[in-house]
Amino acid sequence: MEASPILERARVASATRGIYNLWTQSGAVCRGTATGALHDAPAVGDWVQYDPATGRIHEVLPRKTCLIRKKVGRSTEQQVLAANVDVMFIVIALDGDYNIRRLERFLVMAKESGASPVIVLNKSDLCDDVLPRLTEIGLITEAPVVVMSAIDHGAVAQLSSYIELEQTGALIGSSGVGKSTIINALLGHGQQAVSSVREHDGKGRHTTSHREMFRLSQGWILIDMPGMRELEPWSSAESVNNAFGDIEALAKDCRFRDCSHHDEPGCAVAGKIDPGRLTSFHKLVGEMDEQARKRRDRVGCRAVRQILKSNPKHNTDG
Ligand code: GDP
Ligand code: ZN
Repeated sequence: MEASPILERARVASATRGIYNLWTQSGAVCRGTATGALHDAPAVGDWVQYDPATGRIHEVLPRKTCLIRKKVGRSTEQQVLAANVDVMFIVIALDGDYNIRRLERFLVMAKESGASPVIVLNKSDLCDDVLPRLTEIGLITEAPVVVMSAIDHGAVAQLSSYIELEQTGALIGSSGVGKSTIINALLGHGQQAVSSVREHDGKGRHTTSHREMFRLSQGWILIDMPGMRELEPWSSAESVNNAFGDIEALAKDCRFRDCSHHDEPGCAVAGKIDPGRLTSFHKLVGEMDEQARKRRDRVGCRAVRQILKSNPKHNTDG
């Protein structure tokens, strides 16, 4: 019989098509692969047990927090985007693309994940009046808000005051909001991860197309999460309700306990909340119900297959 390998702890710094870059305890980076026996596929930020002799990952350790979305497309599966994130920096641009509805979705994701959200309002140089935005955001969340322009590297440095040393932050937001610019400012010139050259000005630029973890000289760890064009949070109804605390608070006075805040008599929410926000809430609740229904259906199918397998009498093909 083979002796069981002596496993060591490491952290997943990137994951591309089954190949993992692992940060080992000694500070080295090594290649890892997943063994077939793993219950969960390792995600960026995961702590794992691996065999230094073969690079094989034997176990994904329990996750403290977990950023999840529904897989893009018609799939009913969830996708773990990053694990063990302490602070989720949600980047929103103050230009023409500003959209508070998108922020609501990221806040649901934060609630479900267990990470603390910090809202980064970037491109302040393109916005004449930030105050209405701040007021609007203040009504929907108590999360701290940083207003800045990523073009000003000194301003980007503020982010470090929203996270503790050794903690892990994730930079998340739609594409074009300035995430690469922010990460380049944080990495500084010395350690810039240049992977391509911009055509119009020939400047080297960090452009990851996949999620990746960086150790910053500021003493914390950053996970870059590019390519979030579509965001369907994978969440429980509870996280949606928690993320919409203003609605939850008003709902205590609805006449019916199960009021859906549509047109029910005695509803204490409809008419008292911004209609755009209420629509957004209804849409998210609808999506979560749909997800829950599909999950139940899938579990149902599996249960039926199990019965057929264990009891051949029911098996009509045999
Ligand atoms: P990403 O897709 O989120 O990584 O966004 P990028 O960092 O690539 O930024 C998209 C564009 O916005 C680039 O042309 C940046 O130079 C520009 N940009 C980023 N931050 C700012 C900012 O604070 N102000 C202005 N005016 N432009 C910015
Ligand atoms: Zn109601």
